[in-house]
Amino acid sequence: MNTAPLSSPEAVVIDGKAAAAAIVNDVREAVEREGIVPGLAVVLVGADPASMVYVRNKGNRAKACGFLSRQIDLAADASESELLRVVGELNADLAIHGILVQFPLPRHIDPQRVIEAIDPVKDVDGFHYENVGRVAVGATGTALVPCTPLGVMRLIGQASGGKLAGKHAVVIGRSNIVGKPLANLLLQESCTVTVVHSRTVDSEALCRQADILIAAVGVPNLVKASWVKPGAVVIDVGINRLVDAKGNASLVGDVAFVEVSAVASAITPVPGGVGPMTIAMLMQNTLDAARRAQRHDR
Ligand code: NAD
Repeated sequence: MNTAPLSSPEAVVIDGKAAAAAIVNDVREAVEREGIVPGLAVVLVGADPASMVYVRNKGNRAKACGFLSRQIDLAADASESELLRVVGELNADLAIHGILVQFPLPRHIDPQRVIEAIDPVKDVDGFHYENVGRVAVGATGTALVPCTPLGVMRLIGQASGGKLAGKHAVVIGRSNIVGKPLANLLLQESCTVTVVHSRTVDSEALCRQADILIAAVGVPNLVKASWVKPGAVVIDVGINRLVDAKGNASLVGDVAFVEVSAVASAITPVPGGVGPMTIAMLMQNTLDAARRAQRHDR
């Protein structure tokens, strides 16, 4: 019999599911209290199985929040102009406050052209240049901020008791949807921010300096215990699907969870960490967009 003591993780495991449920609950209560009916339209082009699941989940969550939920399905060979026409109709529809076009799009459609066609006040993904610019200059109060970075900031705030000023935050990944907006949001909270990416020299040494370490890469278990400063808050945005020799699939993050748990003070799991927060923040963004429309301001 193995009598070795079981090593228990030292880090607090940040419960993204509970945090997301609380946000969704607040949104639902606000909808009831304010007598407002936010409208969320999700456009799906084609029938990618993962996208279909994401779109269905968003619709179900929107309905659970008391929103008007609309799904528009276009065939995989729908033209770019057809999609732009649908976006134009949704822009003009007063019952719709949030428009989300599910990515990835078929290769014959230019995603940037589609993003730019969405009215920035309805751009609940926060990808339009106007919202990107507002976030970059720190005007987050009037922006629609991308959902995943927004959710990450909520989790960081919770794990660090809101004391972020002066902390060194290292973001691994520089994508437009996660890494870059996150770096801007952390700067706005007066963190010292380092962005590490695929061409960075000695990522490990830079990450080891982080009080707050966020991995948004898409490489399973990239971040090892040796990358983490003792006591750091570690947020794992990565979602990687692994299939073992027997064909069993599992989801893992970018962080080697077990070994990093022994070093960090707090860590998000995958699944159950950042993932649920993304959809919760989409609900929050749609409510915010509806409130602004009601007030006739941004
Ligand atoms: P992306 O592919 O657009 O960007 C990945 C970034 O990682 C790039 O900037 C690249 O420079 C950097 N990178 C690649 N290899 C690296 C390395 N070895 N060291 C350091 N940096 C490296 O990806 P993305 O869209 O930002 O998504 C990142 C991960 O987050 C993916 O696993 C994705 O599935 C996941 N994701 C999760 C959510 C969620 O809701 N939890 C939302 C969006 C993305």
